[in-house]
Amino acid sequence: MHYSAYHSVDVINGEGTRCTLFVSGCEHGCKGCYNQSTWRVDAGHVFSQALEDQIIDDLTDTRIYRRGLSLSGGDPLHSANLEGVLKLVTRVKQECPDKDIWLWTGYQLADLTPQQQAVVNFVDVVIDGKYEQEKADPELLWRGSSNQQIHRFTR
Ligand code: SF4
Repeated sequence: MHYSAYHSVDVINGEGTRCTLFVSGCEHGCKGCYNQSTWRVDAGHVFSQALEDQIIDDLTDTRIYRRGLSLSGGDPLHSANLEGVLKLVTRVKQECPDKDIWLWTGYQLADLTPQQQAVVNFVDVVIDGKYEQEKADPELLWRGSSNQQIHRFTR
């Protein structure tokens, strides 16, 4: 898995102060996408064990409280990312059970493969659907266009 950016303290992507990882790899090709540099699966940097460990350390850092982890991209549910993201979300829920996980994907929840659903099973909030420029609305919270849906799960 590759990633394009990691923000250890982020107040923009999801509720509360969070850690946010932007993975690489997206096949949706949305017109007007702000993150075209993340489309290639090998864009950015290799996601290492050291960074995975860092994310866990950041989430459990008592000096700056983080409410949880946000996963964006690119697309965290792209086939190239499923193994790495599943390992990460599994670990977050095991080692940081009080933290929530948010995930943005261009796939629609109803169409997920079993492998994608296995990741979503660990996620608390999913924002799904492609970005549709003609439905874009800057007033929307957590999403770029009105077709996208926010799904909150109670675990
Ligand atoms: S799903 Fe997101 S990253 Fe992928 S093309 Fe659409 S807007 Fe860009």
